[in-house]
Amino acid sequence: MAYQYDDQNIFAKILRGEIPNGTVLETDHCLAFRDIAPQAPDHVLIIPKGAYVNFDHFANNASDAEILDWVHTIGKVCTLLGVCPDEANGYRLIANSGKHGVQDVPHLHAHILAGRMLGRMLP
Ligand code: IMP
Repeated sequence: MAYQYDDQNIFAKILRGEIPNGTVLETDHCLAFRDIAPQAPDHVLIIPKGAYVNFDHFANNASDAEILDWVHTIGKVCTLLGVCPDEANGYRLIANSGKHGVQDVPHLHAHILAGRMLGRMLP
């Protein structure tokens, strides 16, 4: 599978500092920032700094350090938001991938949605 990364996508521009963002957390390999059109009171996107189109591109090609950092950053964002189920009412973690996954921005991102009762996704 040959992945074509579009370096003009909006998240690439955010990573280059060309577009402002509401940063929640930055690490060596990741940036977490608030979604510009939040679908819940807390809606944060966690992206790797590397040029990965989607989840399978990342999972099959990224270094262990990048993968560990992305997973740890997602966990840290949940803690920072105070949405871990032990202390609050939980969250949803999503990574839309490709056309059928209705991915709009072709740079891997995890969505964390929290702060309200979310609709059921699967029957
Ligand atoms: P996708 O459908 O999973 O690709 O979601 C892309 C997300 O990026 C959407 O929730 C958008 O609201 C969000 N988004 C698009 N542009 C920006 C931006 O400039 N800053 C923050 N979030 C953005």
